[in-house]
Amino acid sequence: MNSAGRFAPSPSGDLHVGNLRTALLAWLFARSTGRDFLIRLEDLDRVREGAAQRQLADLAALGLDWDGPVVVQSDRLDAYAAAVDGLVAAGETFECYCTRREIQEAPSAPHAPPGAYPGTCRELPEEDRVRRRAERPAAIRLRARVREFTVHDALHGDHTGAVDDFVLLRGDGTPAYNLAVVVDDAASGIDQVVRGDDLLSSSPRQAYLAQRLGYPIPEYAHVPMVLNEAGVRLSKRDGAITLRRLADRGYDAAAVLGMMSASLGLSAPGETVTAPELLRRFTPASLPREPWFFTAPE
Ligand code: GLU
Repeated sequence: MNSAGRFAPSPSGDLHVGNLRTALLAWLFARSTGRDFLIRLEDLDRVREGAAQRQLADLAALGLDWDGPVVVQSDRLDAYAAAVDGLVAAGETFECYCTRREIQEAPSAPHAPPGAYPGTCRELPEEDRVRRRAERPAAIRLRARVREFTVHDALHGDHTGAVDDFVLLRGDGTPAYNLAVVVDDAASGIDQVVRGDDLLSSSPRQAYLAQRLGYPIPEYAHVPMVLNEAGVRLSKRDGAITLRRLADRGYDAAAVLGMMSASLGLSAPGETVTAPELLRRFTPASLPREPWFFTAPE
C-alpha cells in the first residue's frame, strides 16, 4: 500500500472556503511528498442529500485530484465493529450507561483534565451492569491506560493532550468519530493527517487508540482555520462562502483558488494560479500559522 494523505469531509453541507483551504493544504502536503491523496466521506452523522457529490465536484473544480475510489464510512461498519470486538475481547473496553447530563454532573476524578469522562462505569460490579443495561443501551468506552499522550505535528511541534476513557461505540451502535478515523486511516495506509486545527485536541486520543490497536501513528499537520470578519470560525451553515455562492458573485473556482493561495503566501493577490503551479511553490515551513480572516467579496 502506498503512503497517503487524505481529506475527510462530513457531507453535511457544501464545503466553505475554510474546508476548501484545508483540502488544498492536505492535497499540497500529500502531493509534495509523493503521497497518494484519498478522499473519505465521513457520513456517519448528519448527511445532507446531494452534499457529497457537490463536495467532490468542488474539489475537482479547484484542480485537486485524488486516488482510488472515495471511501465512504457508512460502507465500513464491519471494519469498525471488528476493531471494537477485538478490544472488547481483550478486556480493553467497558460498557457505559451514563447520559451526557450524568457525565456533566458527576464529580471529576482527581487530576482528571477538564471535561474528561469521570470513570462512573469503569469499575461497576456485574449486578449493577445487569440493572443498568436494562435501563439504557450501553456505549462502549476504551479503558484508557494513560491520562495524556503526545503527538508530533508539523506546524505545532510536540502536542500533549488529554486522553480519557473515550467512546468507541455510541449507545445507538454508531461508531464514534475517533474510532472511525483511526480504523479508516490505518486501513487506507494514511500516514499523513492534514486537517483543521480545531481537531488538534482530538489527535492525542486518536494516536493513542491507533497505538492500542497496533496501527502506526500518522504524521500530523493541523492547519489554521478560516474566520469571518467577526473572528468566528466559518461553519457549513454560513452559506455565503461556498464555491457556488462565490460563483454567483462572479468569482469562479480559479479566482477562489487564487484567494486561498494568496492567503497562504503562495501567490500574489489577484494572480491566476493552478493547483500544479501551487504544488511547485509549496513549502510547509513557510505556511502562515495564524487564522485567515476571510471577508466574502460583494
Ligand atoms: N470529518 C471531519 C470534518 O469534516 C474531519 C475529520 C478528520 O479529518 O479527521 O471536520
